[in-house]
Amino acid sequence: MCSLKITYENLPSMMELLRNLNVRPIRTIGSVTILTTVGTPERRLYVIGKVKCPYCREHIDLYVVKHDTVSGPRIVQCDGEFKTHMETKHPEFSKEWIACRVESYSRSSFHKVTRYYCQRCGYRSRRYADTLIHIIQEHGFGT
Ligand SMILES: [Zn+2]
Ligand SMILES: [Zn+2]
Repeated sequence: MCSLKITYENLPSMMELLRNLNVRPIRTIGSVTILTTVGTPERRLYVIGKVKCPYCREHIDLYVVKHDTVSGPRIVQCDGEFKTHMETKHPEFSKEWIACRVESYSRSSFHKVTRYYCQRCGYRSRRYADTLIHIIQEHGFGT
């Protein structure tokens, strides 16, 4: 299996490859580019770039990895470094920006799901990257 990292640094040379995978940039804010899938049943957002940590001013890399699998290429968002940075260095992030809650899927269900809530407006998603992209786009986080 072959993996290719697409980062802030090599993004310009990867645009063609991303276009061939039906992923297009929609917006650039500072040194962060938001991308979206096109022509796929499920619209998925990705974020590539450097966000500025509002607490320590460090730049944290957000990138995607293209995996070549038997069923074709797959783009995976990598936000683990960002998440770890906030969890280990800035616990206040979960009160001020993104809170993680494990909840019942519905009122009558025992099935548990993890949801990531925007602490500014209540937006929520089961995908961490979506809530992160939300705070970048809607609340100017890290730009
Ligand atoms: Zn920091
Ligand atoms: Zn919000």
